[in-house]
Amino acid sequence: MENNPTMREWINAFGLDHPLVIAGPCSAETEEQVIKIAHELKDTDVSVYRAGIWKPRTRPGMFEGVGAIGLKWLAKVKEETGLMIATEVANANHVKLALDYDVDVLWIGARSTVSPFIVQEIADALEGTDKIVLVKNPVNPDLALWLGGIERLYSANIKKLGVIHRGFSTYDKSKYRNNPEWQIPIELQNRFPDLPLICDPSHIAGRRDLIFDLSQTALDLNFDGLMIESHWDPNNAWSDAKQQVTPTRLVEIMKDLKIRKETTEEANFQNQLQQLRTQIDVADQNLLDILGKRMKVAEEIGLLKKKNNVAVLQSKRWNEILGKMILDGQERDLGEEFILRLFKAIHQESINHQEHILKN
Ligand code: PEP
Ligand code: MN
Repeated sequence: MENNPTMREWINAFGLDHPLVIAGPCSAETEEQVIKIAHELKDTDVSVYRAGIWKPRTRPGMFEGVGAIGLKWLAKVKEETGLMIATEVANANHVKLALDYDVDVLWIGARSTVSPFIVQEIADALEGTDKIVLVKNPVNPDLALWLGGIERLYSANIKKLGVIHRGFSTYDKSKYRNNPEWQIPIELQNRFPDLPLICDPSHIAGRRDLIFDLSQTALDLNFDGLMIESHWDPNNAWSDAKQQVTPTRLVEIMKDLKIRKETTEEANFQNQLQQLRTQIDVADQNLLDILGKRMKVAEEIGLLKKKNNVAVLQSKRWNEILGKMILDGQERDLGEEFILRLFKAIHQESINHQEHILKN
């Protein structure tokens, strides 16, 4: 998949002076619900109305979507509101039905992107379509797998392609339902700057109070659009109730977001600076997370030493670590002096944590 500016044509064609907004409920529930939300979103920044009708649920027995009947409701949305319509497709039959109902945007969900077999089946069914096709990242943080999915669609002669970043699942508990791992979409953007990039803060967050900040970070990183789940009665939604926002809240979010437009040279400079600073912020957050985790491990070692009556400072081990870190640091263009100071500080903090444990 070469890099070419024509990949941006479909998104530029919207002619918007703000990011592309795709919004609507996680799932289509009833005809009334689908139509009501669409009317509430009609005269806002939203251009594309989303609703899942085949829902990939982690556990069986949860609401698995209304199925093909939802396509009739989406078609009605388009007719009544003029909004474009979007839904998730997960196999060739879904694709056929969605195309029959003239769905404008088809997205491949995170649980499908993990499987090259499924992506290939969908790509074959979509061969040559002029519809917009968006590929969500796979659930696991694997850039190659994500790119592989995009390449399969590109090879099926689908020109209106884009990607959706919806975060990555982790075993570790975190405040996010799916960790953003911003460095992954940043790397994707560096490799394919012409590929439109949309952020889905709803599935990253898993809770509505984090959606604004995540959306702002995405825009600061130059994302082209947002996909936000919106429901008229979020608490009673049949799926993803905690993360959906009302249409009124969605309008507020869009109003409060700082959108940087590339107009003058000065603005362009400011945009690029802001984007790079956001990358630094993301890296700093990762550093803090990893340091916090390291100290927790040090505390466990402290407990073990306490039980076995062993001294905190083990000089031999410490010298081995330092020697290795200096060499590994060189490979990353990090000076010896810096590595020494950094690891002395980290080591001292570990000793403090361990001593705290031994004394208590
Ligand atoms: C969705 O968009 O409702 C959905 C199921 O998302 P994901 O594939 O990102 O989990
Ligand atoms: Mn959802």
